[in-house]
Amino acid sequence: MLMTTQAVTTISQLREAVRSFRAANPGQQVGFVPTMGYLHEGHASLIERARRENGLVVLSIFVNPLQFGPNEDFDKYPRDPERDLRIAAAAGADLVFLPEVAEMYPQPTKTTVSVRDVSSGLCGASRPGHFDGVSTVVTKLFNMVQPDKAYFGLKDAQQVAVIEQMTADLNIPVQIVRCPTMRETDGLAKSSRNVYLSPEERKQAIVLNEALAAAERAIQEGPVTTSQLDALLRTRIQTAPLAEIDYAEIVWYPSIEPVELSSREAAGREVLLALAVKFGRTRLIDNRIVTIPTRQ
Ligand code: AMP
Repeated sequence: MLMTTQAVTTISQLREAVRSFRAANPGQQVGFVPTMGYLHEGHASLIERARRENGLVVLSIFVNPLQFGPNEDFDKYPRDPERDLRIAAAAGADLVFLPEVAEMYPQPTKTTVSVRDVSSGLCGASRPGHFDGVSTVVTKLFNMVQPDKAYFGLKDAQQVAVIEQMTADLNIPVQIVRCPTMRETDGLAKSSRNVYLSPEERKQAIVLNEALAAAERAIQEGPVTTSQLDALLRTRIQTAPLAEIDYAEIVWYPSIEPVELSSREAAGREVLLALAVKFGRTRLIDNRIVTIPTRQ
């Protein structure tokens, strides 16, 4: 652990800080939390977990243009580096890496890391190229930090699945740690994008968590088919007049393949109930991982 939180903007400063920590603390682990900033308690929970499990905690804050589509919110994605540094320090980050775009991409990149299948459904289908941008920047960040452990939130469950597949396929020597979703008291998943919501949209946005809870109950209570669950999710979301469904799906987790819930093999396996819902121009995602009960 460093004595104070140190902020760096270049890759060479980052490498040097990690190298000197490792030289001075042989055998201690380096934990890494990649983010796009505008930090909230969800991010803080990842940093705090990394703090408990590592000697050095590295946080990156980088709004990665590669993972935004042409009509998405890259330019207006919320940014507040000074506030972020205070939250990062309070949560226990030692080193905060805040590179400019030109530091990360000094020339147009000709290399793309692309994870087949896991990336193709859900957010991969509605945001073409998004996960290629994520896998590519996370590979670059892993190569820069060379962490022992990296912390990812299950709020972005498909992203976790993509990163796990990528690190396994490419033998990247890092342990991926899945972290639970932090929520507001009314159940809305914390997200940097929640600030875009109008007061009325914010009120109605709890419908995502409520729909997921209702679908989980239906799975626990009795045999239910995929299409019944699909209908239940949609009906529930449509009770919010401002909600516009992008997708509401049930897939195997972590393969992100289509589920047939009536199949015998379903018992004991994990499914992902996954939602993307727009309120005005704001697209929110939420999900739950549910184990299909074994019935006699
Ligand atoms: P982002 O800044 O949105 O790219 O998120 C950075 C990391 O924080 C990702 O691993 C997210 O899954 C995680 N994260 C975002 N929101 C939450 C939340 N509400 N609870 C837990 N982790 C979260």
